[in-house]
Amino acid sequence: MSQVEPSSIPAGLTKIRRKRWFLWLVFLTYIPAIWLTLTWTQSSLFTGAVFGLWLVLAAISGTLVAFTRCPRCGNYYHAKGLLPVWVRKCLHCGLSIRADKGAFGVGI
Ligand SMILES: [Zn+2]
Repeated sequence: MSQVEPSSIPAGLTKIRRKRWFLWLVFLTYIPAIWLTLTWTQSSLFTGAVFGLWLVLAAISGTLVAFTRCPRCGNYYHAKGLLPVWVRKCLHCGLSIRADKGAFGVGI
């Protein structure tokens, strides 16, 4: 992959952080969504539908995070092999998720 313009790195890291927040938000809503649906509807059919919707959102958000490109090296930020690893730095060049904030790890 080709090198990317250094001025676009902060914007790229912001996109990665937003995708990661969306993924965490989806994960954290699982138990409350299922519990509230069961409590309010008492319907396993409706709860199954909510679970199906949650599963689709989890697949979409996981895929978005997995196939995010690093703004510095252009490789997949969270994947180096077949399985994504959701760490806080690029698995290829080591660019920290907070490099544009001036903390934790390799700077821009
Ligand atoms: Zn990288």
